[in-house]
Amino acid sequence: MNRALRYYRCMIPERLQHVVRSDESLAPLVWLGIGGPAHFFAEPVDIEQITEITVWAAENDLPLRILGSGSNVLVRESGFDGVVISLAAAATSGLSIEGDCLTAGAGGKLSHAVVKSVGAGLGGLEHLMGIPGTVGAAVVGNVSSGGRDISPVVKAIRVMEADGSIREISQEEIGFTYRKTSLTGAMIVEVVFQLEPGDPVALTKRLQKLWISRNSTRPADMERIAMPFIDPDTISALELIQNVGLAGIREGDVSLDSSQPHYMIAHQGATSDQCLKLIDRVREQVLLQTGIDLQLNLQIW
Ligand SMILES: Cc1cc2nc3c(=O)[nH]c(=O)nc-3n(C[C@H](O)[C@H](O)[C@H](O)COP(=O)(O)OP(=O)(O)OC[C@H]3O[C@@H](n4cnc5c(N)ncnc54)[C@H](O)[C@@H]3O)c2cc1C
Repeated sequence: MNRALRYYRCMIPERLQHVVRSDESLAPLVWLGIGGPAHFFAEPVDIEQITEITVWAAENDLPLRILGSGSNVLVRESGFDGVVISLAAAATSGLSIEGDCLTAGAGGKLSHAVVKSVGAGLGGLEHLMGIPGTVGAAVVGNVSSGGRDISPVVKAIRVMEADGSIREISQEEIGFTYRKTSLTGAMIVEVVFQLEPGDPVALTKRLQKLWISRNSTRPADMERIAMPFIDPDTISALELIQNVGLAGIREGDVSLDSSQPHYMIAHQGATSDQCLKLIDRVREQVLLQTGIDLQLNLQIW
């Protein structure tokens, strides 16, 4: 079915018209600040609306993607031909603690979960402080810092299925591997962390130390930036890119940072095509000079 006909047939149902918009620009919603629109963009305020949108998308054969904070997404110029859904509403971003467990809405900020757990004397997340983004994206991408990823403290997640039902998935079933999970296409709505009781003062001090050291290894200008590559097993992406002499290289209005070249910066006038060209150039040169096939962390929409 051609695109126009497909979208004519799946007009936004009246009951969802106040939460789903057409042709919404995604550029202001992603860290790189570039890219085309989402055909439909939804900001549901509760689980019932998320269910309705999910079922509507499935019934109309519309691809569906979740947008967190947009720190790890590059949107192509053509945009996303489907439904993009934000889980930033209070109903899907709350945090609660019971015993040693922290339950977090997938749309909540990872940094809020870290601060809340440390304040309650629960350790296990503090090394992830400063990683931008939401809890849901952190789990789906198995974020890591200092060689430790998020997986050991994830007890279970709740995901929404295409028919709107919620299914609980245990840690073992998530299929965590380095910077990946086997959750392709799943929508995480909630995460339960199993944490370690500790002294809140000692945990807070540790958090502050980690925060200071993390900030010292970031480019001064944190706007319109992405971390495109996964560190290979034997060497960091930063060192690898420096070693092959690609620090600071430019493709149109996109460049790698000169001192922290594992960060890509979109300057005024940058386009998604330029980002993709720069990424290809880096991967090609690294492969040619070292034999290492740099894998992408950045999700290309
Ligand atoms: C300056 C900077 C520093 C960074 N440092 C690190 C670091 O130290 N370690 C590290 O691992 N990463 C790092 N990253 C990458 C990034 O922060 C992580 O990938 C983060 O988890 C992305 O979160 P987000 O909410 O912005 O996700 P988004 O960019 O919005 O989405 C990323 C992907 O997750 C999917 N997703 C989002 N929410 C859900 C959900 N609820 N259910 C299912 N899928 C979902 C999206 O569909 C998309 O495919 C860094 C990025 C930047 C820009």
